[in-house]
Amino acid sequence: MNSTFLKIPVALWLLFVFSACSNNSVAPKDNNPKDTTHNHNPNDTTKMATDTVTFSNIHSCMGIAADATPDDDYYMTKSQYVLSYNRFKNVPNWVSWNLNASWYGDVERRTGDFIPDRSLPDGWYQVRHSDYTNSGYDRGHMVRSEERTATREDNDATFLMTNILPQYNDMNAGPWGKLENYCEDLCKEENKELYLIAGGIFPAQPALLKEKVAVPDACFKIIVVLERGQRLKDVTSATRIIAVTMPNVKGIRTNDWKMYRTTVDRIEQVTGYDFLKNITKSVQDSLERKVDTF
Ligand code: MN
Ligand code: MN
Repeated sequence: MNSTFLKIPVALWLLFVFSACSNNSVAPKDNNPKDTTHNHNPNDTTKMATDTVTFSNIHSCMGIAADATPDDDYYMTKSQYVLSYNRFKNVPNWVSWNLNASWYGDVERRTGDFIPDRSLPDGWYQVRHSDYTNSGYDRGHMVRSEERTATREDNDATFLMTNILPQYNDMNAGPWGKLENYCEDLCKEENKELYLIAGGIFPAQPALLKEKVAVPDACFKIIVVLERGQRLKDVTSATRIIAVTMPNVKGIRTNDWKMYRTTVDRIEQVTGYDFLKNITKSVQDSLERKVDTF
């Protein structure tokens, strides 16, 4: 990966990312640097949460979700999405991304293997394509492949293993996939601007693929639905929020995504993360207790 951007002074960079979050232009590829992976010292885990509170871009306008245990939250930013990585579970805690019609294009889905994320700190395990092989689980995208098809680089980025969780195909190709299709319709047919967060919900002792990759009991997704070009400042207590939790089980392939709707409050309770925390407290509170009924 190109590391040139990392040499740009931090002050300039912060100016850039804040302006990306606040302006109304919709040009994801122009707005984003090629590789903005956050370079923490992996031995200095206590700083992870506080360091990155100041960091924001188009993919994390709604807030960088933190929990009470910052030693397993390693923030990574890419042009295509932002994530919190769990070095003990070897999966993302959550992935956060912006979506509108401009991210969809004609690039063919990547055909090669999924990709170890070489931007993880030195010495950390890099999950490989083969870690999932014959496990019974899909390599489940958080940012969907089709949602990054404007350029080859964008699509390849969704195949980084830091964007992947083990999902049963019945969920992945069932209600999870149906909700992804619904998001595509919102973007392409209704010209919506979406801000999404997705991740896993884990038991205390999760099953592990190859003794490394934790298998979630369920996956969650939170979607803030705005009009094209809208940003954080446009969120009100009337904003549509879709929140779902889907069990990672077999036998749900034909189920509708709508039966899994829940509240952001509930997802926050079970994951321990405070999502959407850049939204004004009173508005955030009212949005987080609503169940989508659209
Ligand atoms: Mn999928
Ligand atoms: Mn919250």
